[in-house]
Amino acid sequence: MDKVCAVFGGSRGIGRAVAQLMAQKGYRLAIIARNLEVAKAAAGELGGDHLALSCDVAKERDVQNTFEEMEKNLGRVNFLVNAAGINRDSLLVRTKTEDMISQLHTNLLGSMLTCKVALKTMIQQQRGSIVNVGSIIGLKGNSGQSVYSAGKGGVVGFSRALAKEVARKKIRVNVVAPGPIEQRWTKSSYVLTSLGQCCE
Ligand code: NAP
Repeated sequence: MDKVCAVFGGSRGIGRAVAQLMAQKGYRLAIIARNLEVAKAAAGELGGDHLALSCDVAKERDVQNTFEEMEKNLGRVNFLVNAAGINRDSLLVRTKTEDMISQLHTNLLGSMLTCKVALKTMIQQQRGSIVNVGSIIGLKGNSGQSVYSAGKGGVVGFSRALAKEVARKKIRVNVVAPGPIEQRWTKSSYVLTSLGQCCE
């Protein structure tokens, strides 16, 4: 059976590291981000026959088109990683409403939209696995990150509930909640390092 995985936010950071690992394990991947050139570069570095697509996860039409393209070019998507995310850190009293909306739309609504479309195929196939990237901040909170924390906490609640909803269809939904990560290039590879706990 084909192993086709969509990695939203796969052009940089955690999503990119996940994509590298999955490529090594024989998955066919779609690397998805808003910036197509960066996504293409990340997909190209994986070697093999992977796809790069541009999509804003906060836009339902974009998400639908992206799944159509993936199905046309790679086949049915049976693995989904939601690693697209943004921060607009600031104290709540200084946070602009537009920054609240963009964080919630990207970090929470975006995962809901991709899961919703991905599940149509997964339910038909009675198989699939979804990993949503949360954050330790969504579990513990942190000063200057109340809106980010709300979105990531929402991802946990959403994922737990969805896991119960689709378990009988043999579909798994999980969340990972990383602590702070440092990203850097060495001469030959892209390295992510955990910086340990960040909040009390
Ligand atoms: P990053 O390096 O900034 O990469 C973010 C990725 O998401 C990029 O591929 C970016 O590409 C994409 N993206 C952002 N907004 C998007 C949108 N609206 N639609 C589609 N793609 C979008 O991020 P990261 O630090 O690896 O973080 C990845 C995830 O882990 C995020 O959800 C973040 O909240 C979470 N996290 C990060 C840390 C950390 O320390 N880095 C810790 C805990 C959790 P484009 O900009 O081209 O769209």
